[in-house]
Amino acid sequence: MLIVHKYGGTSVGDLERIENVARRVAAARAEGKDLVVVVSAMSGETNKLIEYAHHFAQTPSRREMDILLSSGERVTASLLAIALQEMGYPAVAMTGRQAGIRTDDTHMFARIEEINTEAMRRHIDAGEIIVVAGFQGIDQQGNVTTLGRGGSDLSAVAIAGALGADACEIYSDVDGIYTTDPRIEPQARKLERISYDEMLELASLGAKVLQSRSVELAKKMGVTIVARSSFSDAEGTIITEEVEGMEAVLVSGIALDKNQARVSLRDVVDRPGVAAEIFNQLAADQINVDMIIQNASTDGTTHLGFTVPQSEIEQAKKSIAAFEEEIGGMDFDEQIAKVSVVGVGMKSHSGVAATAFTAMADNSINIEMIATSEIKVSMVIDEKFGELAVRVLHEAYALDR
Ligand code: ADP
Ligand code: ASP
Ligand code: MG
Repeated sequence: MLIVHKYGGTSVGDLERIENVARRVAAARAEGKDLVVVVSAMSGETNKLIEYAHHFAQTPSRREMDILLSSGERVTASLLAIALQEMGYPAVAMTGRQAGIRTDDTHMFARIEEINTEAMRRHIDAGEIIVVAGFQGIDQQGNVTTLGRGGSDLSAVAIAGALGADACEIYSDVDGIYTTDPRIEPQARKLERISYDEMLELASLGAKVLQSRSVELAKKMGVTIVARSSFSDAEGTIITEEVEGMEAVLVSGIALDKNQARVSLRDVVDRPGVAAEIFNQLAADQINVDMIIQNASTDGTTHLGFTVPQSEIEQAKKSIAAFEEEIGGMDFDEQIAKVSVVGVGMKSHSGVAATAFTAMADNSINIEMIATSEIKVSMVIDEKFGELAVRVLHEAYALDR
């Protein structure tokens, strides 16, 4: 039996916690399991490294950032391997390169293209516990790359898929996936199971408990993820294919994303092609546009609003500047939050959105933008009401029961 464990930043946050992880890995080993352990950097470490770079440059070169950022995970991987060795277990630390993780060359957001499992297999066959530095790989030219924030989850899923592991257990400071962030709503309830599609929506809509790309890959490769806590022995949540009976649940969770910003373009010249030009420019500048609304044209002009990640707002301003002549005025608002209701049951039920809107109205929370899909309803609201909206919606759908 081959199991992949992944320990996030909080779980390896200090030396004592690394020791705690070593004991957990050793316990799994004692059960006779082959193990590949993927680790994140100590919590706060990646942010600290980014700050260091910003001391020297506003936009440091991405190639060098990847060498810098990949170092955090190497620290924890090597320390965990040393701790295991000291406990009498054969362990070997590997960087992304040594583990055979090959990516494309998009520095800081690289995609894994293939994993050459030869070296990992050799160590497993030799009876060793492998500890892999997560969040990193190398491109075709041998440059170090990183996989985007939270990317160690992706490393773990990709390795589990490539090795055909029996399970991929992702350990953090929560013992599973809850109906919403338990730090915001203490009444949140732990889910026994959740489908890939729902987890993907929750993750991409702000529930950072799993990185969304890792869920996407798990679905594609058929890797079952178990979300568990490194601080308890609780069962955890299984993330898997949608199973019968799941539809009985109307709504499975609420997500909050406070890292969005809104761009409002007033009095945009209303001629065919304007939207295409603006959004093509944003795409060319690699800006991830999320929600878009356009008002019906009145006097030959329209209003166009959309959201982008906060970290991309400065670039968005630059991109839009090219259209000055066709836009009457523009505003940028970073004090917004996106709150979303997710559930596969929505596919076959009407009235789910109405319940959300009513709950917001009853609490005098103004909805500024709305987007829906088959399995979600997202609303943009004033950032200061973000947590309140989560609690109100949690209550409206009786998610604590
Ligand atoms: P790690 O550092 O181990 O990768 P993260 O901090 O990325 O862990 O993710 C765990 C955190 O995710 C929890 O502390 C919790 O506050 C947050 N979270 C957000 N939404 C949820 C949810 N629906 N269920 C559980 N945790 C959630
Ligand atoms: N250390 C990286 C980050 O903070 C990757 C990870 O933790 O998964 O984003
Ligand atoms: Mg994480």
